[in-house]
Amino acid sequence: MPPRSTARVSIDPIPVAVGGLFGCFVGSFLNVVVHRLPRNESIVHPPSRCYACGTQVRWHDNLPVVGWLILRGRCRHCQAPFSFRYPLIEAACGLATALAVHLAVNQVGGPGYGWWGGSAWLHAARLPDLFLIGIALAVMLGLLWWIAASALIDLDHSIIPDELTKPLQLAAPFLAVLGNNLAIGWIPEGWWYSKDELGEFSLHPGGFLGLSLGLIGLGVGLVLVAVPLARRTFTTCVPQPMRWQEEHHRSYRLGSHWFLATLILPVITLVVVVVLTPALHGLSAAEFRRLLPSTYPLGIQLCLAILGGLAGWLVPQAVSLLGTMVFRKEAMGFGDVKFLAPLGCFLGPVGVVWTFGLAAVAGTLVGVPLLLLRRRFEVPFGPFLAVGAVLTLVLVPWLQRLLP
Ligand SMILES: [Zn+2]
Repeated sequence: MPPRSTARVSIDPIPVAVGGLFGCFVGSFLNVVVHRLPRNESIVHPPSRCYACGTQVRWHDNLPVVGWLILRGRCRHCQAPFSFRYPLIEAACGLATALAVHLAVNQVGGPGYGWWGGSAWLHAARLPDLFLIGIALAVMLGLLWWIAASALIDLDHSIIPDELTKPLQLAAPFLAVLGNNLAIGWIPEGWWYSKDELGEFSLHPGGFLGLSLGLIGLGVGLVLVAVPLARRTFTTCVPQPMRWQEEHHRSYRLGSHWFLATLILPVITLVVVVVLTPALHGLSAAEFRRLLPSTYPLGIQLCLAILGGLAGWLVPQAVSLLGTMVFRKEAMGFGDVKFLAPLGCFLGPVGVVWTFGLAAVAGTLVGVPLLLLRRRFEVPFGPFLAVGAVLTLVLVPWLQRLLP
């Protein structure tokens, strides 16, 4: 049960303003990433140019939002129009960053209150609040920017580049423990750990080891059935020529391998940290727990991150195969799976379900009017997942406090 926060609505103008300004510049950089990454161009070189005449944009014309307004949305040389989307993304990114800074600054010392309260195990390690809030904020901002870039590229090209998904897939479980992911996680308390009245964690080693090995077993099992199951679904439910193709096979296999790496790497780390370290130091579990009270909350958080990654991989894949059976064509790209799996580590298993539900609602709200206008509804699902994930990260901690 997260602690009830007392009224804390003070806005610190300086950090929020600095955050907002910084966010606008990041938004400007995101525009470059979204344009260049899918085209396999360098995102640092050359400097911004007009896409029509190739003239380099001057530094003052390149300032976020302001530059576009000075130029009134046109190239200074050839008058080619610059899309309104550029200043919009810069402004939105600035606002989102300012909001994140505000949330983080005002949640100091509030563990159990969504991501922004800072991590439980870093709290237990008695690190200064400012430090752990700063880490949580940095990770969350990086994640929000990653979500924005991925969703915009998906919107433009109906693909999320592996350059974005792969690195996060591997790093996500480790990054996810730097903030407080407990509040939106499903905590199966009792059979692998317990929490006393003082909020101190104690771990049941047998149950914990069983859970770790069970997770590996489940992951390996899922990967073993994923590709054959997908192939079978495609060959029995989908008419030619849309049937199982080399391209499908490659992406399903690749996604499965990455998922397995995400699962196995942190589980190995987990076992090494939680089980082997006391043994190596010749300490009993009780002595070790007294020396390093942060280890067990860390283990629990890492487990929740892995369970979240598992859910993030499983939910879209199950829905995708179900949709393929019902609609007799590929219902959902494997890119959505590769997008939600790393996000799941931050969202936790319950957060993944929230995200998927909110994405479906957002998709319906946008899709039904489009269908009624008799236009084909071919918008990729990634941007809706992005909206669902951001809403979950920001809103669900509040919603959970309202629920029993
Ligand atoms: Zn131009």
